[in-house]
Amino acid sequence: MTRISTDILISGGGVAGLTAAALFGSEGYSVLCVDPAAPVTEESAEGADLRTTAFLQPSLQVLKTAGLWDRLAPFATDLQVMRIVDAGGKIPSPRVTRNFNARDVSDLPFGWNLPNWLLRREMVRRLEDLPNVDFRPGTGTASVLTRDSAALVDLSDGTRVSARLLIGADGRNSPVREALGIGLRTMRYGQKALAFAVTHPEPHGNVSTEIHRSGGPFTLVPLPDRDGRPCSAIVWMERGPEALRLAALPEAEFNAEMTARSGAIYGPLRLETRRTVWPIISQVAHRMSGERTALIAEAAHVMPPIGAQGLNMSLADLRVLLDLCRAAPNRIGEEAMLDLYHRRRHPEVLARVTGIDLLNRASMQSAQPLRDLRAAGVASLYALKPIRKTLMRLGMGTGA
Ligand SMILES: Cc1cc2nc3c(=O)[nH]c(=O)nc-3n(C[C@H](O)[C@H](O)[C@H](O)COP(=O)(O)OP(=O)(O)OC[C@H]3O[C@@H](n4cnc5c(N)ncnc54)[C@H](O)[C@@H]3O)c2cc1C
Repeated sequence: MTRISTDILISGGGVAGLTAAALFGSEGYSVLCVDPAAPVTEESAEGADLRTTAFLQPSLQVLKTAGLWDRLAPFATDLQVMRIVDAGGKIPSPRVTRNFNARDVSDLPFGWNLPNWLLRREMVRRLEDLPNVDFRPGTGTASVLTRDSAALVDLSDGTRVSARLLIGADGRNSPVREALGIGLRTMRYGQKALAFAVTHPEPHGNVSTEIHRSGGPFTLVPLPDRDGRPCSAIVWMERGPEALRLAALPEAEFNAEMTARSGAIYGPLRLETRRTVWPIISQVAHRMSGERTALIAEAAHVMPPIGAQGLNMSLADLRVLLDLCRAAPNRIGEEAMLDLYHRRRHPEVLARVTGIDLLNRASMQSAQPLRDLRAAGVASLYALKPIRKTLMRLGMGTGA
């Protein structure tokens, strides 16, 4: 058996794990990152992640510190306006439309949108520049034993690793979380999301639009033009059987149904990629740390894709973890540091998961009186300028 020691072992090389590897590698720590699956780094390849991530303002500094932003910026699309549309009347056309403009609270856009497959490509390239980072796709975490002095992890290739800090970034079914016996609360909605890209005749004008009717939101997020045509990423949430029906529709029928669901705000929509289907749940781990271990990203928290919170919360986990490591670099992974990590992150994670759960349930409503109440709620919250600004700052994660 090969034995190695490292400062930090990251279990999971999804977008969150790869960001963690680039971040702590850039800080000079020795990092080993493992994942049984190799990252898919081309849009047209089988298994490519066709979701996009809208990085909100506070995530920018994390990406810069990780040496990632210079690589990502040329591919990013600004999100200047967040538009909320209620189309919950008798016919699916917009009846309440409100624009939240980043200009009201900041000199910068709300955020920047990038495709997940491209994030993986640029992140893997960044890791190649860092000699202190060993990224091993094709190798997974097999078992975990923790001691006061280190986490001892056996990998699937037979290597035994001793790490001062183990970061569990291995997704919603996290093997690290299970090995530590950390419990969790899961909320199910019977809902799925379709994620794909479309082109359309009308420009998006850097506006991200969330349209509510029933079944969940239909969200269009700006992407760069594609073959000279305006392009957007779409996340379309529906109850499970309806989402599967839509995913199996012939393309022409699908184009017609999604154009109707969009209220034709950009004219006829044309599908440009495969349709990928994602199960929707909310989930929170009871603790975000254990002996020598920190849980981040979906290993710690999962929520419906509303308001671009998911990965941005994962980068907030990393921001806090990095601050704690900088404050005591010789004591990383010790109990006091990890307790502080849990106490700083868990209350905010619980609050955001609860907030997004409520918004999702409101968006799913099919009863007409409840949909009317939702439309009135959007209009009246927007009408009060101080509340509107507070909501924008809270959504971005820049504080109230
Ligand atoms: C439709 C949709 C749209 C979204 N849009 C946004 C958005 O706009 N903005 C935003 O901030 N968030 C968004 N999110 C959320 C965001 O995509 C997720 O938070 C993020 O992708 C999760 O990343 P992760 O790295 O935690 O998990 P994953 O991507 O699931 O990565 C976990 C990794 O762990 C690996 N693994 C599993 N077992 C092992 C093992 N034994 N050892 C080592 N590794 C292992 C897996 O192979 C996987 O690669 C969206 C989510 C959905 C469903």
